[in-house]
Amino acid sequence: MRIEQALAKATELPSESARADVEYLLCEVLGKDRTYLRTWPDRELSPDQQSHFLELFNQRLQGRPIAHITGSRGFWNFDLEVNPSTLIPRSDTEVLVETALELVDSLDARVVDLGTGTGAIALALALEHPNWRVEACDRILEAVLLARKNAVRLGAANMTVFEGSWFDPLSGRYQLIVSNPPYIDPVDPHLNQGDLVYEPSSALVADERGLADLHYIIDNAPNYLAEGGWLLMEHGYDQAETVAKRLAERGFSNLVMREDFGGNPRVSGGCWRSKC
Ligand code: GLN
Repeated sequence: MRIEQALAKATELPSESARADVEYLLCEVLGKDRTYLRTWPDRELSPDQQSHFLELFNQRLQGRPIAHITGSRGFWNFDLEVNPSTLIPRSDTEVLVETALELVDSLDARVVDLGTGTGAIALALALEHPNWRVEACDRILEAVLLARKNAVRLGAANMTVFEGSWFDPLSGRYQLIVSNPPYIDPVDPHLNQGDLVYEPSSALVADERGLADLHYIIDNAPNYLAEGGWLLMEHGYDQAETVAKRLAERGFSNLVMREDFGGNPRVSGGCWRSKC
C-alpha cells in the first residue's frame, strides 16, 4: 500500500473530518508530519506499517476518537496527552484562554482552573505566564494524574494540580478563576453522536438542563476571588443569557461574553465587585 492509497481510504470513513483523520493516523504510524505525506505520495508502507495503519483505521471506523487512538491532542501551542478519563480538549476552549489573557494583565496573578481534565486551560495560562501561580483541580483521580503528567512533560513548574470537587481543595483568594465545566443537558441527543459517546459523562453532563455546575461555580466563586478578580467559564451555545443573569444576580460586574470559532456564544464571565 502506498501513502496515497492509504489516504484514499478517507472515503470509507463516515466522519466529517475523514481526510484529516486518516492523515493523523498515517503520521502516527510513520512517525512523520503531514508535509511528508504530501511530498511522498508514492512511498510504499512497510508490511508492519500497513497492518498498524489498518488496525488504527478500523478503530476509527468503529467510531473511536482520533485523540484516544493516538493518545494526544493539540491545544493552544502544545500537545496534550489524552485518555478516556476526561474530556478531549476542544479548540473552542482556546477562546477562554485568550479572554483570560486579555482581561488579567497582572504579572504575578494567582489563578485556578476548576475541573481541569487534561490540564489544557491551566497549562496554557501557566506556560504563557511563568510568573503566575496556577492551580488546577479535578474530582476524578485519573484526570488529576493526567494533568500532572502533562504539566511535568511540558515543563510547567508553576502549576499545581489538586484532587477534589470544584472549590473543595482551595483556600485563599485568586485573581482569576476559570472553568470548562460539564454543561450538556442530560437529554441532549448529541451525547449519542460522534466523539461524545467515548467521553465520560462526568466531563459532559450536568443537571438543570446542563446549568447545575455553572450555577454552583458562579454562586461560590466570590468566596475565592480577590477584589477585582475575574471569573470566566465556558458554556453551551444557548446558555449565555442564563449565565449572565446569574452572574449579575450574584453581584458580578463588567460582564463579558465571547463567541467560539463557529460564532456561538461560548465564554462568559465577570469581575468580582470593583475596579476592573
Ligand atoms: N463543548 C463540548 C461539546 O459540546 C462540551 C464540553 C463541556 O461539557 N464542557 O462537545
